[in-house]
Amino acid sequence: METKYIFVTGGVVSSLGKGIIAASMACLLKARGYRVTIQKFDPYINIDPGTLNPYEHGECYVTVDGHEADLDLGHYERFTNVQTTRANNVTTGRIYQSVIDKERRGDYLGKTVQIVPHITDEIKRNIKKLGNTGNFDFVITEIGGTVGDIESLPFIESVRQLRWELGNNCLCVHLTYVPYIAAAKELKTKPTQHSVKQLQEVGIQPDILVLRTEKNIPPEMRRKIAQFCNVSPDAVIQSIDVPSIYKVPLTMHEQHLDELVLRKTGITPEGEPHMAPWLRFLDKMDRAEKKVTIGLVGKYVELQDAYKSINESLFQAATYDDRKLDLRYIHSEKLNEDNVDETLRDLDGVIIAPGFGQRGIEGKFVALKWCREHDVPTFGICLGMQCMVIEFARNVLGLGEANSTEMNPSTPDNVIDLMEEQKSVSNMGGTMRLGAYECRLDPESRAAKAYGKTTVNERHRHRFEFNDDYRQRFEDAGMRCVGRNPETGLVEVVEIPGKRWFIGTQYHPEYSSTVLNPNPIFIDFVKAAIAYGEERGK
Ligand code: GLN
Repeated sequence: METKYIFVTGGVVSSLGKGIIAASMACLLKARGYRVTIQKFDPYINIDPGTLNPYEHGECYVTVDGHEADLDLGHYERFTNVQTTRANNVTTGRIYQSVIDKERRGDYLGKTVQIVPHITDEIKRNIKKLGNTGNFDFVITEIGGTVGDIESLPFIESVRQLRWELGNNCLCVHLTYVPYIAAAKELKTKPTQHSVKQLQEVGIQPDILVLRTEKNIPPEMRRKIAQFCNVSPDAVIQSIDVPSIYKVPLTMHEQHLDELVLRKTGITPEGEPHMAPWLRFLDKMDRAEKKVTIGLVGKYVELQDAYKSINESLFQAATYDDRKLDLRYIHSEKLNEDNVDETLRDLDGVIIAPGFGQRGIEGKFVALKWCREHDVPTFGICLGMQCMVIEFARNVLGLGEANSTEMNPSTPDNVIDLMEEQKSVSNMGGTMRLGAYECRLDPESRAAKAYGKTTVNERHRHRFEFNDDYRQRFEDAGMRCVGRNPETGLVEVVEIPGKRWFIGTQYHPEYSSTVLNPNPIFIDFVKAAIAYGEERGK
């Protein structure tokens, strides 16, 4: 079949969850047997979100091919179980960079280079790139930002043009917000009407409206919206707040979103989507009563989205083990010798978060020392793993000033140091060790047992690494290097075999954990945490 293109735009306010709606739609289409991919076009000028502070943009997600991407790509993968790549996330910056490169090469043959048609053509080329591979029946494109923003105009104009070019193979879904005014006890449709009008002004008539709301929108109100917005009444769908994002595909299916999409792109819907495995997961989620309490030690704890993928991976693992996840964020800057006991004592397991820079690092060492000495299941991820190594060097090997050269370039014991190939790099964007690399695990290791295999492929995002010169000393004292990259020999996993569960990974297993394919190392960590909780009579 010809590739169908679905565009998802948003209006009224940001943070409505366009990514979740796009992912839910993809989830349903995939469950109907279609080949689906989702891509995000972001209107900001950064080349990618890799250089953005988590305060600006939440977590930076990493694709298998080493692209630093918007965190929505994490949702796409978790909901569809389909891997994304560099092609799935394009920013204004990348579009301009490519157009300017072409201009410098003389590709435009002396013409004046303009937003229309050159930038819009470049956007259109990128939108169709994945579709042109022939690998997908549906390409869902989420346009970042809110309709009406100056930044998103070239993207919206490109969508308008593509609609004409693609005809029946194209569909526009617009997400808006229906606020509830408590004082008047009323839901308000005016912002939706305005937002659709704004879209119409730039030449786009949405085919489907999804209304975000906290209260049920009565059918007559939906009919009114349909009438005012030129949309068929069955194509006005509400997306009411649900306790878990993983329920959104169901609420969309109940309102026939998947059938609508098929019919409106010229396909006759047959049968029902195969959602059985997804429903089993939701059922476990609903039935779980007992908790598993995990502490996440990091410096961005006031920020919901900074550790999104870790949070979701833990949630998936807890759910598969019939537990409710009780995740406690622990501010590494506030953790010290005096409060560590009371802060960590009730936890079943502790995660030491990834990160960059000195801030909050000492709190991570305090937490790690306490966890190691109290034999609490502990999982260090990336910087968290590096901190495990440093803490061990300081307190077990007696190397009091051991450090990473990231934190102290003149440390006498550089147990974590720059990778050789990183030493000459001065450019900040996309210059780390990024993307999926193979790792060979020692068959006797806990990590290998967790995965049930000795070769794994996990994603990376770091500059620094374990310094192999110290390996023997670590191993003699009980911390083992149990995972390595087969080509470079870089240490990817360390563990202390004598402990209940004490593993650090240089890679980020959280990027590859999906609802239908949860990451085994998170599953094993959560199991160990549950066992530890039960041991203590919880
Ligand atoms: N800052 C560390 C490095 O660059 C760890 C990065 C991370 O945790 N993602 O190696």
